[in-house]
Amino acid sequence: MRSSVRTLLCLLFILVPLFVFAQRSDREPRQIRSSGGGAAPDISDSMTDEQRAEIQRGIAENIAKLKAEGKLAPESPQAVGLNWPVRKVNFNDRFIEGISNYVDQNPANPGATLEWNCGTRTYDVAGYNHGGIDIFTWPFGWLRMDTFQAEVVATAAGTIIQKADGNFDRNCAMGGGNPNMIFVRHADGSVAWYLHMKANSLTSKGVGATVAQGEFLGVVGSSGSSTGPHLHFELYNASNQLQEPYQGACNSLNASSWWNVQEPYRNTRINALMTGSAAPVMPACPTQEVPNAQSTFAPGSTIFMTAFYRDQLISQQTVWELVRPDGSVHLTWNHTSPDTYSASWWWYSRVLPATPLGTWRVRLTSLGQTVERPFILGTPSSALVTLTGRVTSSSGRGIGRVAVTLTNSTTGANVSTMTQKNGQYTFSNVAAGANYTVTATHRRFIFGNAVRSITPVENTTGLDINAQ
Ligand SMILES: [Zn+2]
Repeated sequence: MRSSVRTLLCLLFILVPLFVFAQRSDREPRQIRSSGGGAAPDISDSMTDEQRAEIQRGIAENIAKLKAEGKLAPESPQAVGLNWPVRKVNFNDRFIEGISNYVDQNPANPGATLEWNCGTRTYDVAGYNHGGIDIFTWPFGWLRMDTFQAEVVATAAGTIIQKADGNFDRNCAMGGGNPNMIFVRHADGSVAWYLHMKANSLTSKGVGATVAQGEFLGVVGSSGSSTGPHLHFELYNASNQLQEPYQGACNSLNASSWWNVQEPYRNTRINALMTGSAAPVMPACPTQEVPNAQSTFAPGSTIFMTAFYRDQLISQQTVWELVRPDGSVHLTWNHTSPDTYSASWWWYSRVLPATPLGTWRVRLTSLGQTVERPFILGTPSSALVTLTGRVTSSSGRGIGRVAVTLTNSTTGANVSTMTQKNGQYTFSNVAAGANYTVTATHRRFIFGNAVRSITPVENTTGLDINAQ
């Protein structure tokens, strides 16, 4: 009996301090120092022979009808040059897309693929060779779709000759029915196909209406037979022969590039660099991603830093640095890419020091490119920033007296200003770290990217809005 009491007392002496210690350490900042990431989901699509035949029939009918009505000019011999058909709305992202597939030029299928650069970055299934370029939204494809932040724009000026909208847009697998789509015939008689857009997001313009190069056509989505938000971009020449817009040694469809500026086969770059309260959550398709973005951090708290890459190469080195307000480096570490990816993401967490307060930076250097993302160590409300941009015409000329409104996305509070003669606008004393949209309206101009999204941390220039 006495010995068991002694044992109990001994145990208490051992356990009570342990319990107290455990409680105390819970109240202290958690010393998280972790990392993660990997490949982005591979996105593709398909089309049945019946769907393709139906589209071709509709296009041919409408072209004949529009020509008979005098609404379609005869084909011009002048070759049409294409611009990129996807545009970002979110200012914090540097780029918002990657390429998962090109045109499959090997007529055999399934399992026999070849693209313009002699690689196999394409696919086929039984009875279908992939006939376009898949441009997928990266990062946050679902979030960007749900918030209208990845736009499909006209690759060249032309006339709308067919469109379909209202179809379900959250498909994750092949066989998803009909896509939302629009078809534009250019002056040379070539036709661009834009498929899989968000439901009810298409331009209100109808068949027979003209669109300018770069004009808004719809929002990137995942309608039809599609495994995630992307644009399937397909191109036909005036003789209705499938084209691959890229010029390359293994392109047997056409000899020259259709692009005004052809991007490299592997366009290696960092699409976005963000700071957050936790690592981004990337749920299974079709659930919207949670970025967990945060721009201001209390002294001694944990920062999560995430980089989203396009076309990251195997063994590609990236130097990560945490940079103090005075420009000196607080911490540095390296990342080596374990593979080559169409798109990938990597995150790290680090515990921030107590000082110095101010605007810090996460700085990434890879393949000679440097990308920075500022964040605030300290109190968010104390930091006030200035936002500036220009409102311009399609030719780049500034437009005066355009109403520009800055709205806090969380509170709805807003403030408006007018552009100066040169199109310049300025918002001063904007609280840093909050989410805002910048909107331009004018009775005579249609602005393609009329709504810009931004979470400013420091003074920001270049929040431009361009008319069509
Ligand atoms: Zn495709």
